[in-house]
Amino acid sequence: MPLEIDATESFLRQQRFINDVSHELRTPLTIIRGYVDLLECYGTTDPELFKEAVSSIKNSAQNMQNLVESLLFLARADQGRQPLTKLPVDLDDLLKKFVENYHTPRLKVSKFPPCKVLADGEFLKKMFAAFLDNALRYSNGAVKIDMTTSGNVATVKFIDKGIGISKEDTEKIFDRFYRTDKARTKVNDKESSVGLGLSVAKWIADRHDIKISVKSKPGEGSTFTLTIPTI
Ligand code: ADP
Repeated sequence: MPLEIDATESFLRQQRFINDVSHELRTPLTIIRGYVDLLECYGTTDPELFKEAVSSIKNSAQNMQNLVESLLFLARADQGRQPLTKLPVDLDDLLKKFVENYHTPRLKVSKFPPCKVLADGEFLKKMFAAFLDNALRYSNGAVKIDMTTSGNVATVKFIDKGIGISKEDTEKIFDRFYRTDKARTKVNDKESSVGLGLSVAKWIADRHDIKISVKSKPGEGSTFTLTIPTI
């Protein structure tokens, strides 16, 4: 009997997964198809349309690529085939280099105190990117990254004053493909948002014994706090 329940559960999970992936692929594919049809008719005579079409097709292709990359990452993670190479890393240096890649005046950072962690640096950057991209995506104003150290932990906070998250949603945002209704309406087709960023971030955090806590209020903003063991 339990075997039967397992089989039904895994079938349902698989169905939901196929449904989610198909749904996420449909929007960029519809955009690409629409613009290709327009280009076929007017592409050689309307240079403005040509520019708009190329830019939208490029964004949609990028969104699909991000989706596929996140799916492959999670598939490898599920199968235990996602190798991590943990080495002593200067967290302050890593964070400094990480923020340098964001060329936006919206980003404000505190002074990062020196501290060492045992981690896979590339994975840490991937995890930080999930939190920072969300903070920038779901707010319009300044986003702050704050880092402090105390005892044998470092605390990194991503603080935004954006749309915020309700209490019920806060429990679900780390689930695969979960997006709040507010987020769906805020994000446009230029941005890649499929609801997998935090699932990937959570997997990386778990592999590094990093605790994640979320404080958020709809309309007021969100703070994601990472507590990272130091060495
Ligand atoms: P997405 O690619 O949609 O941003 P994530 O897994 O990174 O996917 O996040 C899941 C959902 O959590 C988002 O769609 C959004 O609803 C919510 N969320 C995450 N970070 C924030 C934030 N800083 N402010 C408001 N909502 C957020």
